[in-house]
Formats: sequence, structure tokens, C-alpha cells
Amino acid sequence: MQVFFKYIIQLLKANNHEPEKNIEDVEREKQNKELMVKVEQVKELFKSTLIKYNSTSCQCAFPRYQQLISIDCSETRKLFKSVDTEILISLSKPYFERVKSELNNECTNEKWTCLKCGSIYEYGWSDFSIYFDRQILKLVSLKVDIIGKKAITPIPLFLGLEGHSYPYFSNTINVGFSEFEKYIKEL
Ligand SMILES: [Zn+2]
Repeated sequence: MQVFFKYIIQLLKANNHEPEKNIEDVEREKQNKELMVKVEQVKELFKSTLIKYNSTSCQCAFPRYQQLISIDCSETRKLFKSVDTEILISLSKPYFERVKSELNNECTNEKWTCLKCGSIYEYGWSDFSIYFDRQILKLVSLKVDIIGKKAITPIPLFLGLEGHSYPYFSNTINVGFSEFEKYIKEL
């Protein structure tokens, strides 16, 4: 029913010739397209970064990987997530064996074990409202020698934070793609 009303409203608007609305729609569409391009760019970057990590050791040996996957709003009592973190965790799944965790502090808890070195992580997913959910992956036991460069703060992010409320002092900073690539790929 709601969809039907939306359609009728759109038709009425179209008949009323509302040029400002149309410009807004065009602008929104343009922004959405630009965001999709950026998301695809980050996905490709993370896929090739994970391959790079695993060609010399595994993702566990890289502190900057650990840093990016563990950004967690629940530590700050605010509702935000790092979009880069969400994508990196999702793309990391093939590199882990995932089983049910003994923890139950999240809506979904899983124990992730690195297929290559056996390091153990706790994965969590929770929805804090119908509009907001986030994933988290935290190292519990490291089984490999660190070979990656040190993580730095503020944490550089490309897509950045998204949510309803943000910490007053953020330990993240938005950077351009090439700077982000240099950081995560250690170029
Ligand atoms: Zn590993």
C-alpha cells in the first residue's frame, strides 16, 4: 500500500513540475553512484590486499589489518560504524574457518580461526536498532610472527564512519584513496 501511495505522490509531483525536487533527485542519484564507485574501489583494494598478505604470511601478521577490523562503536556507547571495517571483515571470511562461539554478548557470535596460522578471533554482529547494525572482529590469540608495519592513529579511513552518533574525539581520519591504499597495503 505504501509503495502505491509513493507512486501516486511521484505522479502528482511529476504533473506539478517541481524542478527543484528533480534537481535534488538527480544530485542524490549522482552521489549514490559516486558512493557505489568508491565502494567497488575499496572492495578491489581489500581483495588484492588480502592476497598480498597471504602471499608472504597471512592477514594476522599485519597490525594495520588487525586495527581496521577491530574498530568498534560499542566501546564508545555511540552508534556508528566504519564502512571500511564492514567491507574488510566481509571479504576476510574465506580466510577463516567459522564456528559458533561460546560468547553470547552479540546477536551473532562466531569463533573465527585463520586457515593459515590458526590465530583465533571473536566475530560479532549486532543490530542496535532497525536502522543500525555493525560487525566486529577481534583477535583473541595470535599464532604467527608479526611482519607488518605498525598501526598508527588517527586511523586512516577512505569511506569513513556512518551512523547516528559519533564520539566527540574520533581516533579516525578520512583520507584519499591513494593514502588509504598506501597505509593498508604498506606501499
Ligand atoms: Zn593467520
